[in-house]
Amino acid sequence: MGIIWTPIQKQRLQELNASEAQREMCFESQQARDRAFQEQEHSLVVEGKRRLMELRDIKRRPSLSVLEQQLVEALTQQGFVQVVTPTIISKTSLAKMSVSDDHPLFSQVFWLDSKRCLRPMLAPNLYTLWKDLLRLWEKPIRIFEIGTCYRKESKGSLHLNEFTMLNLTELGLPEDQRHQRLEELASLVMETAGIADYEMELTNSVVYGDTLDVVKGIELGSSAMGPHPLDDQWGIIDPWVGIGFGLERLLMIKEGSQNVQSMGRSLTYLNGVRLNI
Ligand code: ATP
Ligand code: MG
Repeated sequence: MGIIWTPIQKQRLQELNASEAQREMCFESQQARDRAFQEQEHSLVVEGKRRLMELRDIKRRPSLSVLEQQLVEALTQQGFVQVVTPTIISKTSLAKMSVSDDHPLFSQVFWLDSKRCLRPMLAPNLYTLWKDLLRLWEKPIRIFEIGTCYRKESKGSLHLNEFTMLNLTELGLPEDQRHQRLEELASLVMETAGIADYEMELTNSVVYGDTLDVVKGIELGSSAMGPHPLDDQWGIIDPWVGIGFGLERLLMIKEGSQNVQSMGRSLTYLNGVRLNI
């Protein structure tokens, strides 16, 4: 009836990627519970070893790298140009995003010295490129980056200190097409990631104000559009749309994983499998 897993058992089951049904099991006695734990743990360990063999013998690349490649292919096919920009950015460019001393994101930034930090987002670099590309290319300008971003976080199973962001942007489109375009871009990414039944939800971002989030149980992506108050700082006047997705969160939902840690850069997990099995 009322006997549940001990905290240690529960944590172990979570590490091993137990399903929700497994994690919520109830028992009539401690003895029955402990026996069930042995069985569940054993079958999860067997499954983990099977997945590691599959990685070694067949897949050969972690899901994170595969997803990145699939997104690059899908986006370049749609006319988007991939860019690769520095992960070390200046305090000034962050300030241009309104992220300075009293901003909620400011305390989450990893500082290297008084003037430079690890980027918590891709947007400042993309804004910088826009400015030059506007001179050099015709509109619309379509660029995207996939790369690591860094944030000090203390919030558990959805947050990593270093995660992989995809930010795709289109600058210089007709203003009345922005909403539709955002929906199309979200759909392109979600289809490529193999995730159906997501929702677009209006929320409020600390950087952009009102944003349209891509949600499936958890936030997967946040979109923004311009003209936007931040544009002034960068000398941008054309309408634009952009969406930022976390690749580890996409994988978490796609693969039904319990925590984002198992999908990210890690020494304790390999391709979603806990290594202490
Ligand atoms: P949250 O509110 O969940 O902390 P956010 O709104 O601060 O996220 P954004 O700045 O909108 O995050 O970043 C775009 C996307 O990057 C998010 O929708 C999410 O998928 C991903 N992301 C953001 N922070 C993290 C993190 N610490 N670990 C993993 N993914 C993240
Ligand atoms: Mg967001």
